[in-house]
This record gives sequence, structure tokens and C-alpha cells, in this order.
Amino acid sequence: MTRSTKTQKKDKDTEKNINPSTGTEGSPVDIPEAAVEESIEKTVRDKLTSLYTLQSIDFKIDRLRSVRGELPLEVQDLEDEIAGLQTRVEKYNNEIGDLETEISNKKIAAQESLELIKKYEGQQMNVRNNREYDSLSKEIEYQTLEAQLAEKKMKEFAADAEVKKKLVMQVEEELAERNKDLDAKKAELNDIVAETEKDEANLLKKSEEQRALIEERLLNAYQRIRDNARNGLAVVPVERDACGGCFNKIPPQRHLDIRLHKKVIVCEYCGRILVDEQIMKSVEGL
Ligand SMILES: [Zn+2]
Repeated sequence: MTRSTKTQKKDKDTEKNINPSTGTEGSPVDIPEAAVEESIEKTVRDKLTSLYTLQSIDFKIDRLRSVRGELPLEVQDLEDEIAGLQTRVEKYNNEIGDLETEISNKKIAAQESLELIKKYEGQQMNVRNNREYDSLSKEIEYQTLEAQLAEKKMKEFAADAEVKKKLVMQVEEELAERNKDLDAKKAELNDIVAETEKDEANLLKKSEEQRALIEERLLNAYQRIRDNARNGLAVVPVERDACGGCFNKIPPQRHLDIRLHKKVIVCEYCGRILVDEQIMKSVEGL
């Protein structure tokens, strides 16, 4: 048997077994010669190692991207907080403006009352009878009360405006602090983005290099499983007799087959490619 026919046969088996849609149990490959078996085992193990290496690199890329994805949210939170504080300052300033309008209105009202009092006092000099005098006295009394009330309101509004002005100062101090935080956070974000982009570029290069080592059909299967998996994992180790992707139990016979590296075996539940501890450790030790 030539090398090329061996490869062809193995590829056929490999493809058959990694296809998650077929759901086949992946019966052990029937190989008569020990030498062939040894050779296949080595090649399948190499393929699985290459695949798991690629998976490790791609996982790091996924993690970098998700970390970077969360950072702008922190900036967004701060920006929202600042917008909230600015709205509060605006609201207080509007209220202060309204109070100042009220104060000047009351000032005018008090002035008018005082002028009326003066007018009535003048009229009292020229009354013809007591009834007219008393009527004017009542008006003077009323306007005096009005003027006093206006003064009282003016003082209340002024006190209210003072309280709000202090609040504005407090919120503005807080705003200055938050703006400082925002600047720092933005600078930090830019640094992290620059740094992770550099790391990501390196990892992407490694991923490309690793992909070049893997045959196309296997790579396509890897990509397809990865695209369909929620966590982006297409190749997972068997951990505590369970699939490292979906955590379903792996039957002992299947676990044994996985350890023998005779072919590529996928999880019968989630379709992910399974590797044993030996391959996992050899990759993680890199
Ligand atoms: Zn699974």
C-alpha cells in the first residue's frame, strides 16, 4: 500500500467521522496491518494536535475580543453618569432662574403696595367724613399686609435660590471629578485597545500559520462547528469522562477510541471534535 492511498483512506474515514450531521457513532476503523495502524494513529494524533492547537489560539483571540468589547461599556457608563449630572445642573439653574423672576415680581408687587399706601395716606388728608377715612385705613392695612407678604416671599425665594446655587456647586464639583475619570478611562481604553490589537494581530498570524498545517476538509469542518458553537469551541478535551463542550457523558468504549487516536471522533451530542488528555496536555505545554 502506498502512502497516498493510506492518506486517502484515512481522509475518507476522517471526513465520515467528523461530520456532526450524520450523528454516526464512528465505529473503529478496520485496519489489518499493525504498521498501518501505527502510521494512522500517528497521523490522526498529529491532526488532532494541530486542530487543538488552532483551537487554543482561536480561543485566545475570542477572549481578547470579548475583553475589549466590555471596555467601551465602562466609558459609556461614565458618559451616561456625566450626562445625568449635567441634566441636574441644568434643572437647578432653570429653577434658580424661575425663583429670580419670582423675586423681581414680588419686589414690584411690594413697591406697588408701598406706592398705594402713600397715595391712600395722601387721600386721607382730604376726606370728607369718617366713613371715607376708615375705608382708606382698611385699604392701607390691606396693602401693608400685601407688602409684608411680598417681602416674606422674596426672602423665602432668595433662601431657596441660595440652597439651589449650593447644590449646583456641589454637582459641578462632582462633574469635574467624573470628567477627570472619563478622560483617564478613555486613555486607558485607548492603551488597552492598542495593546490587545497588537496581541490579536500576533495571534491571528499564528492562527493563519496553524491553519496552513491542517488539511482543508478538516479545517472546513472545524470552522463550521466553531461557527455553530455558542462558545466558539470546535475542539474540546474529554474531561471527567464528559465532553468538554456540552458536558454530556462519553461512553467508556468511545472514550477508549478517542484515546487510541485511530480517527477523528466527534461528540454525539454537540458534534464537537474530541481530544484526549494526552493531546490536551501536549498542546497546553507548548
Ligand atoms: Zn459534546
